Amino acid sequence: MSTVTAGSPAAGSFCIPRSRRRINMPRFTMTVRSSNAVSVGVAPILTKFKHDCATPLPLLRHVADAMATDMRAGLAVDGGSDLKMILSYVDTLPTGNERGLFYALDLGGTNFRVLRVQLGGKEERVIATEFDQVSIPQELMFGTSEELFDFIASGLAKFAEKEGGKFHLPPGRKREIGFTFSFPVRQTSIDSGILIKWTKGFAVSGTAGRDVVACLNEAMDRQGLDMRVSALVNDTVGTLAGARYWDDDVMVAVILGTGTNACYVERMDAIPKLQGHVSPSGRTIVNTEWGAFSNGLPLTVFDRDMDAASINPGEQIFEKTISGMYLGEIVRRVLLKMAAEGSLFGESVPEKLSTPFVLRTPDLSAMQQDTSDDLNAVGSILYNIAGVESNLSARKIVLEVCDTIVMRGGRLAGAGIVGILQKMEEDSTGLIFGKRTVVAMDGGLYEHYPQYKRYLKDAVKEILGLEKSKNVVIEHTKDGSGIGASLLAASNSKYEHDF
Ligand code: ADP
Ligand code: MG
Repeated sequence: MSTVTAGSPAAGSFCIPRSRRRINMPRFTMTVRSSNAVSVGVAPILTKFKHDCATPLPLLRHVADAMATDMRAGLAVDGGSDLKMILSYVDTLPTGNERGLFYALDLGGTNFRVLRVQLGGKEERVIATEFDQVSIPQELMFGTSEELFDFIASGLAKFAEKEGGKFHLPPGRKREIGFTFSFPVRQTSIDSGILIKWTKGFAVSGTAGRDVVACLNEAMDRQGLDMRVSALVNDTVGTLAGARYWDDDVMVAVILGTGTNACYVERMDAIPKLQGHVSPSGRTIVNTEWGAFSNGLPLTVFDRDMDAASINPGEQIFEKTISGMYLGEIVRRVLLKMAAEGSLFGESVPEKLSTPFVLRTPDLSAMQQDTSDDLNAVGSILYNIAGVESNLSARKIVLEVCDTIVMRGGRLAGAGIVGILQKMEEDSTGLIFGKRTVVAMDGGLYEHYPQYKRYLKDAVKEILGLEKSKNVVIEHTKDGSGIGASLLAASNSKYEHDF
């Protein structure tokens, strides 16, 4: 590919010693038409990329319809579609009457969190909460099941030791835990479930096919920790329960963090595959596991390559297109190609840019918040992360790539939400669009990426139209899943209770 001009690094954008600056300086070739021009080789890559990522309204409608269709197929029979539509065994939602001391443990993706809450019933509600957060060491994500669960149990033991103040356990009782486990589990009862497979980059040996509650109980035994799991809860289900505690209109919960998933309140008579299980309320929460959805998504060669190189090729395609773990990596792959084939950063390809996952989604977000004329922050992030010097037009292209990926992700997530709402409305006219309906949302991606959030909300409006979308409220619930899991521990307590 011929280089017309090579960009000059924008001087003074960040402070680095001259000698170091020289090391990464792109070599100049031929005549310099404009100090801000980048290679013409980049343009066709960008054009094709944007074209392949496009999410026009008909495509979003198609995705929403396909989501609804896949939900039905997954409810009809196990294995009926990409969507597992897992029964949560949560048949009663929090009432507000829950009382007592309960714990929650959340194993999600990047961190595990422990939480205790003292619940005071309808009047006092949440009397006190305390929580702690520990990041999961990388090596434990690839270690053995025992190592991972021992680490968790020991973190829980340390946290439980510090209980005091407003937290009280009646004598003779064990502490009860709501265990939020955000990986696909075939639930067998409210307090047991078999891990189907790890996702989100976890590859722990010896857990798939096992009851994760038993894994935790055994680790707690090894730690001499006398607690019991009374509810095993997917994080979406915990979020729904936590949000519902405050607002009766919550019908759906969505997670957009490291990974993604959604759950919703379903009628028992709309679940043909359900055999023998009776819910006194006539409803239950269904965990869609929508990360595995794949129908009609606009994918690029970069998505396919990333998927092929992943530890679960061919799986979790929706998750790989819209969730926080992957957005940065897709952008990195695009930039690498632009650098190699279009001399985006001058003639040399920055070595660091070849490292998978070196560019993270929070970096994309930080770059997109840069409103300065010379895109200073974009320049320093590119330098710090990828070791590249960039001129203004290269920075603009980087932002365009970020925006393309984030727009596609946010809009597809919005289409997924509409798919769920549509399915519920089709089964019970007026249930969703005839009144206020709340979608509880949790996860770091939605919380910390304003552009993503905007694209998602706009897409929901665009697909539903103004009238219908007025009734749909997407509400961020901070740590809803932790409180929700403890509420479910309360309502499933093995001790006598009247809530
Ligand atoms: P988890 O999904 O691991 O349980 P979170 O819900 O806190 O945890 O989400 C963490 C994820 O959110 C990160 O992996 C990252 O992808 C995304 N994220 C965190 N901070 C930001 C940010 N500032 N901008 C964009 N995305 C972010
Ligand atoms: Mg989480």
